Amino acid sequence: MTFNKTYLIFLMSILLVFCCSKENESNSTDKESNTINEVVQTDDSDNSTTSSSESSNESNNSAGAGIYLGTKCNEISYSTIPKPDYIEGDYSYYTYGWQLDGSDQNSCVNAYNGVNAEGISLVEAVLSDAKEKLGQILPVNTWIFHTQMTELDNICSDYSAFTDDSSCFELRPTAAATVTQYVLHNGGNFLLSEGFWGDPEQNGAGYKVAYHEYFHIHQNSHKFYFDATENFGINMTQFRKVDQNEDVNLVGPIWLEEGGAEFAGVWYSSLKGWVDYKQYWTDYLDEARSVIADAASRGDIVSLKDYETRYSIEKVESSENSTGTPREFAYAYSAGGLAHIYLIKKGLSSLNNLMIEYYKGVAELERKNVGEGYKYAFEKYFGMPLDAFYTEFDDFMLKSRAEQLSILELN
Ligand SMILES: [Zn+2]
Repeated sequence: MTFNKTYLIFLMSILLVFCCSKENESNSTDKESNTINEVVQTDDSDNSTTSSSESSNESNNSAGAGIYLGTKCNEISYSTIPKPDYIEGDYSYYTYGWQLDGSDQNSCVNAYNGVNAEGISLVEAVLSDAKEKLGQILPVNTWIFHTQMTELDNICSDYSAFTDDSSCFELRPTAAATVTQYVLHNGGNFLLSEGFWGDPEQNGAGYKVAYHEYFHIHQNSHKFYFDATENFGINMTQFRKVDQNEDVNLVGPIWLEEGGAEFAGVWYSSLKGWVDYKQYWTDYLDEARSVIADAASRGDIVSLKDYETRYSIEKVESSENSTGTPREFAYAYSAGGLAHIYLIKKGLSSLNNLMIEYYKGVAELERKNVGEGYKYAFEKYFGMPLDAFYTEFDDFMLKSRAEQLSILELN
């Protein structure tokens, strides 16, 4: 470790968008004792609540159910799931009102007591830059709060309308983003507490974190979106199946989802002068090397493939690890991000393919290859079959530090 870390690994507040178990992740990879707590949107489902929602939607005769209300900051666009335009196979297809009136470009900063002007401007700067660099296909509401000064009732009375079960979150250190199949009709949400927008000591890290969260919205909005028909499609059957079988999420392996978000966060923030790209990735390289060396001391061989699902990650990063000893955190982020740099520097992929085309293509490839869209998208946009990449990247991670820095052009 090359920098002072007082890592606190929190299992995070649950961002309950629809009463499902959500992935609780902690990113321990940040600098300057910055604790990142993430709740990343996953494709979990809960049969009881899902079916009750679906049936209530179908049988809901109350006025205005499923009707587009218009899109304004801090207000829902639909009070219930709208009726699909059509259903084909396992997919329900939607064209949302905000696609038609242009409010899919809305980026809202909903700030609550305790949030200062600097915090708001940080988030606004990221939302604006990210929309320009990555695009935006649904309205985004950001919920910016202070863990001590914001009144829970105040923020929750607004936020809970964006969930399907009127749930909320706790006022804890949080950086979290979500787009789910249950409330897709109301766009994407992300949460940020003062540790990320209000700490001048962080020296730009807050921008990076906000960018990382925006990227999750980017990834998880495109996984539903079909470019050719310009509509959204939801395969609820497959979402349930993925969860039940502990399979890889539609958007791809967790290391790709998190590593991609971290790569994007650092890369685009560095272009704005908010963070130091080389410093970040050199530190991440050391961190990833430490995960490997520490595990190797117990005969535990680390592969990027171990970081495909939240289940597999929980296994290797806990005492469920076959050696009985958890691995150091958080290889999905550090190595996942480094994998992106590797793909570019080896000429296998490009920034545009890694950041945009993969996500634009994955929904269509998933529809053609249910459960395996990410594998096809990987090979198409990242330049080689995923399994072959695991072998190559695992080998790369065992090279000398000097050689790695040279390949990644971080020296
Ligand atoms: Zn994340």
